[in-house]
Amino acid sequence: MVETSHKYPKVDKNEETKLFWDSAKEGKFMVRRCPACNEIHWYPRSLCPLCHKAETVWEEHSGEGEIYTWTVMRKSPTGPFGLGYVKLDGGPFVYVRFRDGLVDDLEIGKRTKMVFDKISDDDVYLFADLA
Ligand SMILES: [Zn+2]
Repeated sequence: MVETSHKYPKVDKNEETKLFWDSAKEGKFMVRRCPACNEIHWYPRSLCPLCHKAETVWEEHSGEGEIYTWTVMRKSPTGPFGLGYVKLDGGPFVYVRFRDGLVDDLEIGKRTKMVFDKISDDDVYLFADLA
C-alpha cells in the first residue's frame, strides 16, 4: 500500500470501467482496441474515439511508453509529485501521476511503465514509474 497521507479520489467503477479496475488489481494494464481501425486508445471506452465504431475490445498492454511531457506539482500538502503525459507504445497518450520520489528524474523521452499501487483495502490507483 502507498505510504502517504494523501487522500486519493474514490475509483469510479462502472460497467465500462469494471474490467479495467478488476484487472488492475492483478497488475494488468488493459486498453481497448478497435477492430475497425485497429488502433488502441486511452481511456478505455466502448466507442472508438478515432473512427466512432462501437465495437472495441479489451486487450492487455505492457503499460510501457515514454514521457511526452511532464510538470511538478510543488504546492502539495504531501510534497512535490510529477504529472505528465506518457505516450504508450502503440500510440495513445495517458495523463498520469508519477510515483512519488521521481521529480528529480523526470525527463522527456524517458521510458516509463504504468503501475498500480494499492491505496486502500479495495482500490488500486494508476501511476507511472520509470522503466
Ligand atoms: Zn476505430
